[in-house]
Amino acid sequence: MPRRTDPALCQATHRHDPGRPREAADGLNLCAGCHAALGRHLHDLPDLHADVLAELPTAGDSAGPAVSGSRTPPLPFNPRAGDLLSQMRHDLARITSIVAIERGLIGPPPNPGAQCAWLERHTDWLAAHPDAGAFKDVFAELVGRAYNVIDPARLPLVIGPCVEAVDGVPCDGMLFATVRRDGDPTPSVIYCDVCPLELDTTQWHRFGRRYLRARERMAG
Ligand SMILES: [Zn+2]
Ligand SMILES: [Zn+2]
Repeated sequence: MPRRTDPALCQATHRHDPGRPREAADGLNLCAGCHAALGRHLHDLPDLHADVLAELPTAGDSAGPAVSGSRTPPLPFNPRAGDLLSQMRHDLARITSIVAIERGLIGPPPNPGAQCAWLERHTDWLAAHPDAGAFKDVFAELVGRAYNVIDPARLPLVIGPCVEAVDGVPCDGMLFATVRRDGDPTPSVIYCDVCPLELDTTQWHRFGRRYLRARERMAG
């Protein structure tokens, strides 16, 4: 019988309890939660890119840089949105070219929608790459920065602590719901930022009841 080697560990950064090692999923360099998050980030980034782009012109409102106490009007653009848009362009170009070169493929057209859709098809390959942790961290940072730039009304709703168990251990993640507007290409979803839980709106009602019961049990 082959001797079992030490389990591979997730290479990505974890927001909760970052010092605790997480076992990587089979054949991957990411844990199951980071693997799911990588796919979710790639899925969400094109919409977030559009939202950040919409924040770029500030029409002279208070979002632009202004010298305090001065009468000079603020600049008509949001420099944080500008910085983030260039960072997104840079990271998407870099990572799509890594995948295209290493897999011997022709890369996607250079726009975030095409790049993310193309990368999403390579999620498993990215998660098994020696730099999987760095890839996941890059996309997590872009998503996090995008939420800091865009309209607070577009932020995911915080539901509360996750009540799932991962391999018998209670998940220490937080649950969020993204609520989409009419016309948004991606649907609303409830997700955990640590484990792979992901629920579309058809599952919300049933999950809501199960969730409240579990929270009551935990409280009582
Ligand atoms: Zn992980
Ligand atoms: Zn969870």
